[in-house]
Amino acid sequence: MTTGGNAPADAKLIIDLAVIRRNWLKIDRKIPSSSRAGAVVKADAYGLGVAQIAPLLASTGCEDFFVATVDEGLALRDLLPDVRISVLNGAPEGAEAELAIAKLQPALNDLGAIERWHEQARRMDTALPAVIHLDTGMARLGLSPDEAAQLAEQPERLARLTPTLLMSHLACANEAGHPMNGDQLARFHVLRRRLPAMPASLAASSGVFLGAEYTFDLVRPGAALYGINPIPGQLNPMAQVLRLEARIVALREIDAPQSVGYGAAYRASGKTRIATVPIGYADGFPRALGNQASAMLADGDAASPPLPVVGQVSMDLVTLDVSALPPEQVRIGTAIILIGGARTLDTLATEAGTIGYELLIGLGQRVPRAYLNEVAA
Ligand SMILES: *Cc1c(COP(=O)(O)O)cnc(C)c1O
Repeated sequence: MTTGGNAPADAKLIIDLAVIRRNWLKIDRKIPSSSRAGAVVKADAYGLGVAQIAPLLASTGCEDFFVATVDEGLALRDLLPDVRISVLNGAPEGAEAELAIAKLQPALNDLGAIERWHEQARRMDTALPAVIHLDTGMARLGLSPDEAAQLAEQPERLARLTPTLLMSHLACANEAGHPMNGDQLARFHVLRRRLPAMPASLAASSGVFLGAEYTFDLVRPGAALYGINPIPGQLNPMAQVLRLEARIVALREIDAPQSVGYGAAYRASGKTRIATVPIGYADGFPRALGNQASAMLADGDAASPPLPVVGQVSMDLVTLDVSALPPEQVRIGTAIILIGGARTLDTLATEAGTIGYELLIGLGQRVPRAYLNEVAA
């Protein structure tokens, strides 16, 4: 899905790899020197391209990568033979041999999974790396409190699982004042003390910003690397990584009152200039942004007035009211920024009634991606 042909793309998602690197370094430097930063690159690095991003972060010093599925782990192993790769969704029954051969470490989410991974190590007459995931309050993945207690009483279940990382995940880390944070931290400490000594990991992007007591030995940022604000409501400490740009493909002058787009959801009452750009909900530009968002001129010289999205977002197109711009500044082919600059992922997500994560994941399905500052592997 990177830019392929020679024709100039009418729309592109521009991803600045140097900014992703700086965001990772920012987190790595923020945490105490006793912790290190990994990187979460599940779902194709949140839709931005694991094949470009994981090698870049590895060359920056990242040695711990997290994916969700076995397939993602196998693909990443092909790219990076030497890093630690954890598979967060765990080892599906029957996939143990494949994981072990690819040197992937599954997050073991229940006693059965621990048993099967232990058995795999025994069959191979070796020790296998693993992540023990404890549920401290999400009721999603990880050993339940009962299972954790059982494991504490039978540490021999872990005899062949080494090196091992003890992990849990915070439910409300994006709200610094939320009581769940302290509760989960306390529960994690209690369980950790009962289990054999091993390195620990609790914080994802937002957890990093809760303070040094949350960082343990390894932090697992994903979203923050890609520019999403880990501390909503406060100034975003992360830099913006991407820009979604498209060229105007049609211009329409409206003189008499007339509706725009599907459902006649917008009605221009007087003289209006409508620009159509080839980005739609098939490109991950949410339909909920119809009559909600605005775009701006890509021309760096001119401070662009907001160009409101008028009417509904179509599958492949959006319509913008560009009447605020002088006619000589808007032509067919003029570049428009839909995401970038002040139009951040988080801003658009709020306007669409969702979160930056979901918006980010949806982008880059169809739009050609263009990478800035690509480094030779
Ligand atoms: C996705 C995920 C992360 C990364 O979370 P961000 O909020 O994107 O930093 C970390 N740990 C686990 C268990 C995850 O599922």
